[in-house]
Amino acid sequence: MYDLIGIGIGPMNLGLSALAHPTDLKTLFFDESEQFSWHPGMMIQDSMMQTSFISDLVTLADPTSSFSYLNYLRSIHRLHTFYFYEKLLISRQGYNDYLRWVATQLEDLRFSTRVIDVQDTGDSFEVLVEDVSTGKRETFEARNVVIGTGSKPAIPDTFDERVIHNTQYVMNKANLLQRNKISIVGSGQSAAEIFLDLLTTPASERPELEWIARSTLFETLETGKLGEEIFSPSYVTYFNQLPLEVRQESVKKFARSQNGISPETLQSIYAHLYDLTEEEQRQVAIRANLEVKEITYDERFTIAMQHQELEDERMSVTDAVIAATGFSPSLPSFIDRLDIVFEAPNAWKVDADYQIVRSVETAHHLYATANLELSHGPAADNLGMSVSRNQLILNAVAGTELYPVERHATFTTFD
Ligand SMILES: Cc1cc2nc3c(=O)[nH]c(=O)nc-3n(C[C@H](O)[C@H](O)[C@H](O)COP(=O)(O)OP(=O)(O)OC[C@H]3O[C@@H](n4cnc5c(N)ncnc54)[C@H](O)[C@@H]3O)c2cc1C
Repeated sequence: MYDLIGIGIGPMNLGLSALAHPTDLKTLFFDESEQFSWHPGMMIQDSMMQTSFISDLVTLADPTSSFSYLNYLRSIHRLHTFYFYEKLLISRQGYNDYLRWVATQLEDLRFSTRVIDVQDTGDSFEVLVEDVSTGKRETFEARNVVIGTGSKPAIPDTFDERVIHNTQYVMNKANLLQRNKISIVGSGQSAAEIFLDLLTTPASERPELEWIARSTLFETLETGKLGEEIFSPSYVTYFNQLPLEVRQESVKKFARSQNGISPETLQSIYAHLYDLTEEEQRQVAIRANLEVKEITYDERFTIAMQHQELEDERMSVTDAVIAATGFSPSLPSFIDRLDIVFEAPNAWKVDADYQIVRSVETAHHLYATANLELSHGPAADNLGMSVSRNQLILNAVAGTELYPVERHATFTTFD
């Protein structure tokens, strides 16, 4: 019997495995992908993390852990160069390499294994898994299950199926560069990074570019010193106990802090735009205030849009469309059979310690490291916050404080 079985091995559950490693807990994690990979389609050259290297998988819980980013640097003989580098933000590729380094050392990770069912047996959970290459099925028993299945790309139904999501960008880039015109839809960090990447392609190879955004402003990611404290355990604890309607409003209000573009990316885009020649400028369009209504395909794509304020209809014809239109929760279908209480469509009720609320009282529990926006607010997807989340989950599973949590870790008080 396992103390904890994890479904999905993204950074959130990988951190849980790393923190569980030195404890006596018996844990096992499954992922359907062949090996650990973190958003491979967005490994754009020079793309940077939005959170400091200190928010690695373990440091905020245990700075002495051997799975820290600094210990990774030591293992690849880069500690001194990092010391001279003097930066908190590291490259996304570097962070991915670090995650893979951790993944290779943990023995409780099983890849190429999809979890296809979880059943409550009355005093534990039975987890049914399937080997994705052989189809062989196996059952494991656990006292607790943590669902960390992340999110899946979301593209509006009205977009033609040939439109690609930004998560497919890197593998399609060479092909995209063969087209005459590329349109990017969306106004968040991913759209901005792809626009910048294409903008910095040598002019002779660069297709005509069009960036379409619904918003009037290209919002900046919250990086203000006190503002950032909403990504802290203190704020998350406060947020979790708010009435549902207040949380729903807050989620809308904080969309900017979460979905904005990093100041560095915006700065770089502006600098490159400024350097374009007049002729090159005619090949680059940034179109704000336009909501894309429909994208159809007939040899070329036709994008039907409506101006958000003037309300007139617009049209654009293009050769490729990249939809940076966000993500939706990736929820396995078997959760319907687990008596989970939902607060809103697709939003399960989760308590302050990340236990999923069920309509049955049991001593064995379900936990969530994904789909937490409505229950835990803007920090739900934040890598730094995932560490204190994992501490709380492990403490609850162990029934003892394995990792003391700094619950009041901010200068701001929220209640
Ligand atoms: C391009 C990009 C950059 C980001 N950069 C940052 C950043 O700098 N800082 C920050 O704080 N946040 C960042 N984020 C947000 C967040 O950290 C990531 O989205 C992160 O990947 C979320 O991790 P996760 O473990 O919840 O889910 P995921 O990484 O999505 O992993 C979920 C895993 O579950 C597996 N899975 C799903 N269903 C099953 C099943 N039934 N059986 C087995 N396996 C299953 C999937 O294969 C997948 O590997 C970024 C997000 C993106 C898209």
